[in-house]
Amino acid sequence: MRYARLVDTYESLEATTKRLEMTDHLVDLFKETPPDILDKVVYLTQGKLYPDFMGVELGVGEKVAVRAIANASGHPESEIVRLWKETGDLGTTGERVLERKRQQSLFTQPLTVEAVHSGLDTLARASGRDSLDAKIKILSRLLHDATPREARYILRTVDGKLRLGIADMTILDALSLAFASKEDRPTIEAAYNRCSDLGMVAVYLAHGGLEAVRDIHLKLGVPLRAMLAERVQSMEEIFEKMGGPCLLEYKYDGLRLQAHVFGDGRVRLYSRHLEDLTDQFPDVVKSLRRSIKGHEAIVEGECVPVGPDGEMRPFQEISHRRGRKYNLQKAMEEVPVVFFAFDILYLDGEELMDRPLPVRRKRLESLIREGGGEGVRLSTALETGDIKKAEEFFQESIAAGCEGIMAKSIGEDSVYRAGARGWQWIKYKRDYKAEMSDTVDLVAVGAFAGRGRRGGAYGALLMAAYNPEEDVFETVCKLGTGFDDETLFSLRERFTEHPTIHPRVKSEMEADYWLVPEVVMEVAGAEITLSPIHTCARDVIRKGSGLAIRFPRFTGRWRDDKSPEEATTTKELVEMYRQQLKKVG
Ligand code: ATP
Repeated sequence: MRYARLVDTYESLEATTKRLEMTDHLVDLFKETPPDILDKVVYLTQGKLYPDFMGVELGVGEKVAVRAIANASGHPESEIVRLWKETGDLGTTGERVLERKRQQSLFTQPLTVEAVHSGLDTLARASGRDSLDAKIKILSRLLHDATPREARYILRTVDGKLRLGIADMTILDALSLAFASKEDRPTIEAAYNRCSDLGMVAVYLAHGGLEAVRDIHLKLGVPLRAMLAERVQSMEEIFEKMGGPCLLEYKYDGLRLQAHVFGDGRVRLYSRHLEDLTDQFPDVVKSLRRSIKGHEAIVEGECVPVGPDGEMRPFQEISHRRGRKYNLQKAMEEVPVVFFAFDILYLDGEELMDRPLPVRRKRLESLIREGGGEGVRLSTALETGDIKKAEEFFQESIAAGCEGIMAKSIGEDSVYRAGARGWQWIKYKRDYKAEMSDTVDLVAVGAFAGRGRRGGAYGALLMAAYNPEEDVFETVCKLGTGFDDETLFSLRERFTEHPTIHPRVKSEMEADYWLVPEVVMEVAGAEITLSPIHTCARDVIRKGSGLAIRFPRFTGRWRDDKSPEEATTTKELVEMYRQQLKKVG
């Protein structure tokens, strides 16, 4: 399949902000794609080569990109650098330079999707001493064979800035329409939730239809999407929602990890966002290997720093492990961690995710008890329908250093719902007086120029919640407090600016800078109010009004483990607003 065909779709996608039109373009593309390479087409459309959990990182430095464009075009590097600065976009730079190339070589082959994917794959895997030269060579070759228009997208892909605004959910819509029907969408989504691999779902669907998709099972080394919780503001509400006894567990304040333990002792760890974090937690790997020896299992737990006195420590003490490999040994010695296991999805060839929670809990208990060992413990749990006992349990959990409790349904249907947020799991956190009872995770979509001491830096950020129905980010507050000086002055480096408002952002406020919605931050606030300027849940509570957070404050916690689509949703904010009213009334 010609790469030019993919580029046609990229251009059509960029020309619209309407989700339905985007879906139609994708349906046409998927139908025309030979089934065998449908996975590659899906990944490339998302700006990747493989699903995230495989950890194959695309990306080249400035030197490689500039040298490759120079090789393919014959233009001096200085001119390319100058143009790049001017346009701010590597893709447009390459396209323009290649357009100016005087002679098209006689020996260029039309580029195929396969050639682009395999070229980029070799490029991504190049490592070691000669990798720089190897990367330049591969990219030069691809650009040499590319038309200027194709070069634009190849370069944006290697620069990590393809950004067509396509969410996973839109791809799932398109796959259902292309190979099954709209009604089959839940079956297809369920398969995706089990394997977290859109390319694989696409290939199975195109080859074997729904039957094949139903046959996608859990596999060690392939993380499933995390089950998520709803929130309530009082203990009474927990039991109202549960309609009877349930399993209460401490809600640990740490990092959620999905651990895959192989029979031969290998262990892989995935974040809630399904990133492979194995290398950051060799201590957890070791503990799990010892504790689950001789079994094959997928277990979920929260990884929490624990002091020498055995007390749980604040989560922030392990967050700095990310990206700082050289200090890992020191970090492990200074702040040991414990993995508190709370669920099991697979054990020795048996899929457990479709079994009710009490069955899973029993299996988990015997597995962890059998293994013993220091670094792995069971989450503290209590099955009860008694509100007084629940209150006591909640107080105990706070005293132990936890954030609150999780309440989990124990009914017949209490299966593990991968990728879904529902009332089977409910979180209930400590009530911070005069604050919103829970923090929210918002996406930065714009920034305002700082004044005075903050001159030259961002003074505040425009924050948004996610609206999954429309796949857009809707603004909810201007965030300017909670930053220490160092964070504030380096703030700009964390974001990617976008020349205009991003197509997936809905805002009526004019920001000084628009940002690509990709960074998630935890925000606390005093209350949720109605607002005429913010677009979050506009018209839902009152016509002409949206929701806003009053006195927002950054908690200091960057939610790098969350994708923007995993930010707090507009629907959750509506629910929080309603609960707040109930509390006052
Ligand atoms: P969410 O995961 O609901 O989007 P979040 O990541 O901000 O939100 P919280 O609001 O803190 O997390 O609540 C859910 C999280 O609580 C889980 O993702 C998990 O990391 C953590 N957690 C701690 N203890 C438990 C437990 N016993 N069972 C399940 N999850 C737990």
